[in-house]
Amino acid sequence: MKTVYLDNNATTQVAAEVMEAMLPYFRDFYGNPSSMHFFGGQVGLKIREARQQVAALLGADPDEIILTSCGTESDNAAIRSALSINPDRRHIVISRVEHPAVKSLGVDLARQGYRVTELPVDKDGLLDLDLYEKSLTPDTAVVSLMWANNETGVLFPVEKAAEMARERGILFHTDAVQAVGKIPISMKTNAIDMLSLSGHKLHAPKGIGVLYVRRGTRFAPFLIGGHQEKGRRAGTENTPGIIGLGKACTLASQHMEKENTTVKQLRDKLERELLARIPKSRVNGDTANRLPNTSNISFEFVEGEGILLLMDEYGICASSGSACTSGSLQPSHVLRAMGVPFTMAHGSIRFSLSIYNTEAEIDFVIEKMPPIIERLRGMSPYWQAGEQACVGA
Ligand code: PLP
Repeated sequence: MKTVYLDNNATTQVAAEVMEAMLPYFRDFYGNPSSMHFFGGQVGLKIREARQQVAALLGADPDEIILTSCGTESDNAAIRSALSINPDRRHIVISRVEHPAVKSLGVDLARQGYRVTELPVDKDGLLDLDLYEKSLTPDTAVVSLMWANNETGVLFPVEKAAEMARERGILFHTDAVQAVGKIPISMKTNAIDMLSLSGHKLHAPKGIGVLYVRRGTRFAPFLIGGHQEKGRRAGTENTPGIIGLGKACTLASQHMEKENTTVKQLRDKLERELLARIPKSRVNGDTANRLPNTSNISFEFVEGEGILLLMDEYGICASSGSACTSGSLQPSHVLRAMGVPFTMAHGSIRFSLSIYNTEAEIDFVIEKMPPIIERLRGMSPYWQAGEQACVGA
């Protein structure tokens, strides 16, 4: 059975070019980049090139790039650094819809005695900048707001929010794990102090991430040990991963236009057709202010898990809630924060596309989804009760 992979916000396939760039660094050039000999030194040079490639995608300078192991590490390192260099400030601002990499850290910090403000979002998943402004105080050490939401794709106005933080002398971090590679980003023209990204969301392998730290921003390392990353992140470098990430960043800039035309058109077609063919379905999240690859659709009165199981029979991969929360039967914290009604939130499916999806795959999904939902609704007492209620109304 062919796999139709529409779960690219969970993780992506490693691009063939990325794999090819990495292989020699597993097989032949295995030297330690910190070694004095030429064999290791040449690997160090290749890491330098990869750092330049990452910086180019972000419109940053190579020395602003700290290579880490994943997006979660980058998020933790950024927020903990900000708190450590501002020990007198005990307040942080995040949003209610952050990924657990930030949200759970917020819970942990609250346990340690920090005051954590979780900003609400409206029914479309958008942030209220007035409320945000009011949340900033002289005690605020850092703001961490995601650029793009992993479940709905909704974008936050992080560039504006970063300016407002800077005016008040507050550090600003953004979790851009879902945004990088999908929308253009230029660190030269914004006021964001720190930004996290993750390789496996943009066709590089798992186990490699980046924390961008603007030049001049004070930084306290999370991992202490050797001198790697100029003392900002100790640990022997994941050489193949770093080289793969560099290549993936170059490919991402080349594919940015396709992401915002072809991928967006396929996403829009999928969404339009599913809404037209399946009654009582709706899109979650602001449709104008959104990543080009993501669609979060609720099918009322059915369980997301049930939908995923039946989709799986056709080899169609997607998510209900985020990858990290789909093990639980609680509706996603993102949809709850948006006030999506319970019967809708439970039946939500996130479709996330990549440049490797084809129109034939989307047509296949459009054909298979309506009977799947109909079959599940046929078994749902809630749907039958809902139908009767509609007939009676
Ligand atoms: N932040 C967001 C918005 C994400 O979507 C994810 C992964 O799903 C992460 C952070 C964590 O990244 P990683 O899996 O590289 O730790």
